[in-house]
Amino acid sequence: MSNNGTLAVLLSSPSGGGKSTIIRHILKTFPEFWHSVSCTTRAPRYNEVNGREYHFVTVSEFERMVQADELAEFAEVHGDWYGTPLLPLRKAQGEGKKIIFDLDVDGAAKMKQRWQSILTIYIMPPSREELERRLRKRQSESEDVIQKRLKRYDREQQEANKYDYRIINDSLECAIEEVLMYIRVWSKVTDFTQEV
Ligand code: ADP
Ligand code: 5GP
Repeated sequence: MSNNGTLAVLLSSPSGGGKSTIIRHILKTFPEFWHSVSCTTRAPRYNEVNGREYHFVTVSEFERMVQADELAEFAEVHGDWYGTPLLPLRKAQGEGKKIIFDLDVDGAAKMKQRWQSILTIYIMPPSREELERRLRKRQSESEDVIQKRLKRYDREQQEANKYDYRIINDSLECAIEEVLMYIRVWSKVTDFTQEV
């Protein structure tokens, strides 16, 4: 896959770290950005729409996509499968969109290997306690799902130093501004014509 000069930015964080919120703001303000909508086998949250937050698929459909090589990467996170569909990604590249990914630490490592010019940013919550507070305030998961997500926190934090940049999402406004600043810097110093 050639990136045809396309800028791509990949955000990771522990669950509740603020990726979706930051991405939502960027998409609202900058129409040239395109968010890669992933496939997942997890159940939709009450406020999620199929095709908007995720393509919600069955395990057998996900397995079929893996077999057919339709995913750029995939990983198991918190007991469910998540993957990046290749076809819409290639289309967005062809249209010269700036692409935003929201991937877990395993998926991020695979994407960076496949596509070295991707800018990777790790979003950190100000503290574990604040993360827990935000996860509960989101009111989208049951207590045992929240616990499952918090369990992965330490491992994910350890992976943070593998990213190009790290941002603390304390003030949302500042975090968004920092993401945009790193994108501007990356655009200046990176060769986007490499083959992947
Ligand atoms: P993720 O997509 O990483 O799982 P979300 O974007 O859903 O995380 O954020 C988790 C919760 O924290 C949401 O309810 C969101 O509104 C809230 N949130 C995100 N950033 C901040 C911030 N800087 N300050 C306070 N609350 C925040
Ligand atoms: P959530 O269920 O909270 O939406 O997402 C759980 C985790 O899966 C998050 O860390 C999110 O970044 C990650 N994720 C979402 N889509 C993908 C994907 O396509 N591939 C991978 N590897 N991880 C994903």
